[in-house]
Amino acid sequence: MTLDAEAVLGRLSELRAGDPPTHGGRVLSYVYDPGLAGLDDMVAAVVDEVLPVNGLDPTTFRSVGVLESELVGFMRELLHGDADVVGSATSGGTESCLLAVKTARDVWRAAHPEGRPRLLAPVTVHAAFQKAAAYFDLVLDLVPTAPDGVVSAADVVARLGDDVALVVLSAPNYPFASLDPIAEVAEAASAAGVPLHVDACIGGLVLPFWRDDADAELPAWDFRVPGVTSVSADLHKYGYAPKGVSVLLQRGRDRQRHQYFATTRWPGYPVVNPTILGSKSAVPLAAGWAIAEGLGVEGFRELGESCLRATRALRAAIEGIEGLRVVGEPVGPLFAVATDESVAPEQRVDPHHWADAVRGLGFVLQLQPALAPLPSTTHLTITPVTESVLPELTSALVAGADAVRGVPHVDASALLGGLPPLEALAALDSDTAWALLQGIGIGGGAELPDAQAPLVALIEALPASVAERLLVELLGRLVEPREV
Ligand SMILES: *Cc1c(COP(=O)(O)O)cnc(C)c1O
Repeated sequence: MTLDAEAVLGRLSELRAGDPPTHGGRVLSYVYDPGLAGLDDMVAAVVDEVLPVNGLDPTTFRSVGVLESELVGFMRELLHGDADVVGSATSGGTESCLLAVKTARDVWRAAHPEGRPRLLAPVTVHAAFQKAAAYFDLVLDLVPTAPDGVVSAADVVARLGDDVALVVLSAPNYPFASLDPIAEVAEAASAAGVPLHVDACIGGLVLPFWRDDADAELPAWDFRVPGVTSVSADLHKYGYAPKGVSVLLQRGRDRQRHQYFATTRWPGYPVVNPTILGSKSAVPLAAGWAIAEGLGVEGFRELGESCLRATRALRAAIEGIEGLRVVGEPVGPLFAVATDESVAPEQRVDPHHWADAVRGLGFVLQLQPALAPLPSTTHLTITPVTESVLPELTSALVAGADAVRGVPHVDASALLGGLPPLEALAALDSDTAWALLQGIGIGGGAELPDAQAPLVALIEALPASVAERLLVELLGRLVEPREV
């Protein structure tokens, strides 16, 4: 047998060359580059060491249990958990969020033999919680926020009740980076006997070092707040680990044991899993552990401070661009940018055209659809490497705005005109959905469109169920085997 590794790897490099660069601060979402060369080499050595290990069974691969215990210990200390806080490493933020909800649902069910539990959270909570409610059959109760993405504690507290299995707040949320009113809600939730999860998936390893706009420390948002019963934090974000590692910390062993699935009722090995996956790679856990070991709290602090300086510089730069504004009161190395409606229409900059223009100048920003009363926005996530590209990035942001100033938001009615009446779209089959997408010029060839403003305008204009169905079709077709 021959294995032509060279040819295979050649093809892989060719495909990777079409991706946006994952290093160097060119993509302001999805990737978290600490800008430390030695870190990549260490992670490569970690991959070499643990690649064949099955992370499923820490009683066979004892190293896995030690790594997980040490990583959970590191995070517990950082997030001020006491000896009553225990946890697990998961495959990422989504799995940590799913398991927080699954735990709460099972605790709730143990106390309520009948009824359907409710998941209560601001509308800005990560979509992973919508997924959790769908997977685990909870009623999803999303609390509206102000148009700047800030939720009022009173609005959340007013909706507490005996059927609420879990309240979720974010530190901070992803779309606008608002830091939810955790202490206020925690007090009321705890008085009502309702558990509170803090989603610090993105903030967990950077908010401990953050300071507000007045350079003061943030209010407590982690286990220092007595009513907080669980916290999620992603090592594959500001822990700079490769994708596939997060932690879920829970207060109280008895509570946390509801996270597990265990069965001895099959003829194979006993299955006792704290997480969703069975067999799994130990690489992301080992890499997350190695980086935490190598950097320590002081290393994360230095990197966090670089993010803070770059975030302040970028926010100031954008506030200085006519026609754009930073939305709300962002806390942490991320924020959203919207049109400044206080200037004349010809001076306004549409955030989606802006993102498309800036992409043409070499920096990838992320378009976020409007969700009334929240405006259309463009999202930026800042990482430590951003500081080293600030001059170039700032010029691109300014030039991008100059290029599209006065161009109105994409008028979706032109796109919608190509679609049949909405009533006819209630139940689309796959071929009809695909034909509709092609009819409006999306997903025709193998190439995805570069300009994303029209696609997002379409999402904004369509009823959510139709937009979701069309996107499922687009993504489904993307990975179908291609005719050769
Ligand atoms: C990223 C993120 C998640 C989900 O994380 P994945 O790692 O993408 O699965 C959840 N909550 C917040 C606030 C996040 O930023």
